[in-house]
Amino acid sequence: MPKKIAVIGGGFAGTMVIRQLIDQGFKGEITRFHHGDSETLGPAYRADSGDLLLNVRSENMSAFPDDPEHFVRFLQHEHPGISHPRGFVPRSVYGNYLQSIWTETKSKAKQNLVRFDLKQEEFNHFKDFDSLVLATGNEQPRIPKELPKEVYQSPYYHGNPWNIEFNHIHNEHAIFILGNGLTMVDTVLRLRKAGFHQKIISLSTHGFNMLAHPEEELSVVPTQPKQTDLISLIHFFNQKRKKRSQAQFLLGVDTLRSQFSFWWQGFTPKEKRTFLKRLRHMWGTVRHRIPSSIAKMMDKERASGQLEVCAGKLLSVELHEDQLAIRFESSKQVISGHYTGLINCTGPETSIENMSNPILQELIKRRWITSDESSQGIEIHPEKLYVLSEAPMSIYAIGNLCKGTLWESTAIGELRTQAKLIAKGILSEK
Ligand SMILES: Cc1cc2nc3c(=O)[nH]c(=O)nc-3n(C[C@H](O)[C@H](O)[C@H](O)COP(=O)(O)OP(=O)(O)OC[C@H]3O[C@@H](n4cnc5c(N)ncnc54)[C@H](O)[C@@H]3O)c2cc1C
Repeated sequence: MPKKIAVIGGGFAGTMVIRQLIDQGFKGEITRFHHGDSETLGPAYRADSGDLLLNVRSENMSAFPDDPEHFVRFLQHEHPGISHPRGFVPRSVYGNYLQSIWTETKSKAKQNLVRFDLKQEEFNHFKDFDSLVLATGNEQPRIPKELPKEVYQSPYYHGNPWNIEFNHIHNEHAIFILGNGLTMVDTVLRLRKAGFHQKIISLSTHGFNMLAHPEEELSVVPTQPKQTDLISLIHFFNQKRKKRSQAQFLLGVDTLRSQFSFWWQGFTPKEKRTFLKRLRHMWGTVRHRIPSSIAKMMDKERASGQLEVCAGKLLSVELHEDQLAIRFESSKQVISGHYTGLINCTGPETSIENMSNPILQELIKRRWITSDESSQGIEIHPEKLYVLSEAPMSIYAIGNLCKGTLWESTAIGELRTQAKLIAKGILSEK
């Protein structure tokens, strides 16, 4: 069993790997490197996420794979008014939950004589540890190639959608959002809350609307696809889409979601490329959904014309004094306008070569981590989650960094299982 473990990142993933290590009987030293602004929260569940809601029902948000009711019990105890298992609670409440797990974890560590060290500094102690866990979370979105340097270095480009600098946004002009997924929805709600009531344009390749979680409590008998190559799966889901109501179809997707990782692993490189190019957004729309209360707010935004969702492509962005002149193509028309800012909601960078995180760059330089074949993360063992390389210590990756190998590797339901697996892997090392 390795004695010294370094965990890089202290969001949900880093916290739960440590918790699982302790619960599974680890004896030794754990050092956590985390440069977040609180002890355990990454950008998703910070206190300043205010009344933004989780996108997943409480009944599916337990931090422990073997105790699915853990989060609901926490709610019943701490927030009884919002403890319905099918409800969607504010993200800051989930942040409280994580804090409570972290506090309990520290005291369990003490009881079990596990030595704990928390460091805010950058990790560079490569020789000091037997195992390294990369729990670095989401990277900022890639800077779109259409943006010249003077634009992306200006205060009118908001490259971090989870930390928008509102003081650089003015009320007189419209706001431009690139991307049309969950982060766009969050951004619109946060802008409105911050008092920005002007028009918002959201541009994405397909302009799909985010779907809501069905309100009805239905049950569907899960049917399995007989073949899981990409074409057969498209055929399977198209058939289901035609035969079922939208709510039943979406519920069917939920029951099959955990299997997507196995299908993805069986895809040929060509199938993966096709999926990434043509189908990922469609799958994302049925797979990542929003509470119906939020969907109603977005419908209202669109119906009033205050939010315009466009399908198309960005053509150019220029800096004009304190505004951006943006041209884009949509419905075969070129549309030009002036905007007070561009907020990049295109989703986290997944190619490790393009990531700015110094630890990842150092590990690439040492050839201790490499990109997977589809450039969606690190090459890892699909079941054990350790990095396949000649590094002198064991290296594990969790969450977003595992997307290339597992595809579905973002939500709490996936991260909690990965945390358990990693702890088990570390404990089984000689
Ligand atoms: C806005 C948002 C809402 C979400 N809502 C839901 C939801 O409702 N339901 C759901 O199931 N999933 C949701 N997710 C997905 C997922 O649950 C979260 O992304 C989750 O917080 C990921 O945890 P993490 O620990 O991997 O990353 P993070 O929470 O990002 O934590 C990583 C931490 O590591 C730190 N770090 C990174 N590099 C270093 C380094 N070199 N040294 C030191 N520290 C470092 C970062 O500063 C960060 O604080 C959401 C994600 C986002 C972004």
